[in-house]
Amino acid sequence: MHIREEQVVEGGFGGHMRVSAGEHVRITNLEGSQVCDLWAFSQASSDEFLSAEHTRSTLQKLVPAVGDSLFSNRRHAMLTVTADTSPGTHDFLMSACCPRRYELLGHVGYHRSCAENLCLVMEEAGATAHELPSPFNIFQNVEVQAGGHIEIVPPAVQAGQYLEMRAESDLLVVVSACPMDIAMTNGPDGKTRPIKLERLG
Ligand SMILES: [Zn+2]
Repeated sequence: MHIREEQVVEGGFGGHMRVSAGEHVRITNLEGSQVCDLWAFSQASSDEFLSAEHTRSTLQKLVPAVGDSLFSNRRHAMLTVTADTSPGTHDFLMSACCPRRYELLGHVGYHRSCAENLCLVMEEAGATAHELPSPFNIFQNVEVQAGGHIEIVPPAVQAGQYLEMRAESDLLVVVSACPMDIAMTNGPDGKTRPIKLERLG
């Protein structure tokens, strides 16, 4: 496979790529300890999008791993995980961070968020989303504890590790290098770091 397109998404910001069926998308953690929210929309209609709940119920597991497909809200396979050099800690349970989340954490004033990044990037891509789906939180480390308690703990991902997925149809892929600097999402140092997005084929 050859790299057909690549971009570095600055920590806290978003980016997008149009990926054709059969091509691969690779998300690399350039410096480690950074969560990357990812959404995928069908290029044919943004009413069909990657769905956390449809993926969990189809796979009957919480986190997709190599060989697993990720499904749309119409239960079509959209992406298939082909490689993962990270420890495999990803999350498909938590919502994207949004302005209210930062307010609840005690932040006063404006703060970037994954939800806003999705809206900005969709506009930049000339696409419309009638719904804001839950993201696939790549590299997000969520512990599912006895009794059903779930907790975000610092990421286990190291610099240079990546997740790669094959597109099963023509997709608009949107990512956000999560701006969280209060909760443990991106680690205890409150820093955000860049993510590399590549299209291979
Ligand atoms: Zn976020």
